[in-house]
Amino acid sequence: MPAGARHICVYCSSSTAVDPAHVAAARELGGALAARGDVLVWGGATVGLMGEVARSARLAGGRTIGVIPESLLAVEIADHDADELVVTADMLGRKAEMARRADAFIALPGGFGTLEELLEQLTARLLGAHDKPIVLVDVEGFWRPLDALFAHFYRERFARPESARAYTMAVDALSALASLDAVGEALPSKWL
Ligand code: AMP
Repeated sequence: MPAGARHICVYCSSSTAVDPAHVAAARELGGALAARGDVLVWGGATVGLMGEVARSARLAGGRTIGVIPESLLAVEIADHDADELVVTADMLGRKAEMARRADAFIALPGGFGTLEELLEQLTARLLGAHDKPIVLVDVEGFWRPLDALFAHFYRERFARPESARAYTMAVDALSALASLDAVGEALPSKWL
């Protein structure tokens, strides 16, 4: 994927109580993707790492597109500074709109919401519904337990080990962006 005007969907935590290393990673990702000319597609919220990514992207001169369901407008405090703020009827609509606009997905550390969004795209890719890159940013080893769970799937034959090619684990935000430049490989069939 050539850099510049790619739409990168970032999934991440809505929590404001996380370790400063995660805040720093969110800022680095927002700033770096904007500096490369990429567009941020995110959950449209000002809270937590979501707010950090978007504010940093704009500070670096980037374009931000927020997508937020009506029910969360107040809870997650919608970001009216976004270049575009799309309000959807519900969460399903949000996720569909974010995915539709994305050329690639990057997951920073997050909780239940982030994991659900990430796994939705991962399972869709494994089923061949799309071939967009998916990158996890492993800040301070955050995603290692998930990686270990996936390894357990492969050992127990609940998934093919080749499924690991559906996503990339990056050590930091800059490597995550760099990995998007690599041409994606075709995946083998998901079926065992
Ligand atoms: P979290 O990782 O739990 O802080 O959530 C990050 C984002 O995912 C927030 O914007 C949530 O609104 C969103 N999200 C999407 N799907 C879900 C879900 N099923 N449960 C909780 N949050 C969700």
